[in-house]
Amino acid sequence: MGAQFNSLTFTGTKEQIIVKWNNAVLEAGHNNGHGGYTGSIVEMGEGIDFRTHTIFDTINAAENYISENHSKWDGPIAVQFKTGKETEASKKKQNALFDKKVELSNKAEQILKLGYLNLKNGKSLTLSCKKCKSKLNKEYIRDHVCPLCNESLLSLTIHKRYDKVIEKFEAAKKECENYIPKVTDEQIVWLVGGWCSC
Ligand SMILES: [Zn+2]
Repeated sequence: MGAQFNSLTFTGTKEQIIVKWNNAVLEAGHNNGHGGYTGSIVEMGEGIDFRTHTIFDTINAAENYISENHSKWDGPIAVQFKTGKETEASKKKQNALFDKKVELSNKAEQILKLGYLNLKNGKSLTLSCKKCKSKLNKEYIRDHVCPLCNESLLSLTIHKRYDKVIEKFEAAKKECENYIPKVTDEQIVWLVGGWCSC
C-alpha cells in the first residue's frame, strides 16, 4: 500500500482552521468514500497536530517539513508559512552583498597572482623553499607553491595581505548566507496536511 501527500492552506485562528479542515475532511468523505485507502485527506481525519515552533519562509519549506515529519495514519500536521514578495530594496541589498563577496574573492586571487609574478620577476635565478629546503630553478615554477612539498613560496608581506582579504571574504560570505530577505504584503498562512494511505 502506498501513500499520497495532501495538504490544504487556510487563514484564520486555530479554532477556525479546525472547523475549515473538518469540513474539508467531510467533503472528501462524500466524494471519495471512507475505504481506508482513498489517498485523500479522509485518511488523516480530524485532530490537527498544530506545530508553531517555526514560521516557514515559503510554502515549499512548510510542505517539506510536514512531509518529513508526518507518518501515514497520523492526524494531519499544521504549520505556518509566510506569503509575500521580496522587496526591491531587499533584492538590491542581497545583490550588493553577493557582489562584495565576489569582489573580495577576486581580490584574493589577484594577490596570489601578484605574489607569483613577484617571485618570477625577482633578481635571483633560484628560490629556496623554507620547508623542504629545496633550491628551485625559477624557470620551472608554475605556481606560488613549492612543487616538492606544496609549501607557499610567497613573501610574508603578501601572505599578510592575502589573509586580511580572506578574512573579509569569509565575513562577506557569512553575511550573504545569513541575510533574511524582507517581504511585502506579508501574511501568515496555515498549511495542513500529511500522508494519506492509498
Ligand atoms: Zn618545499
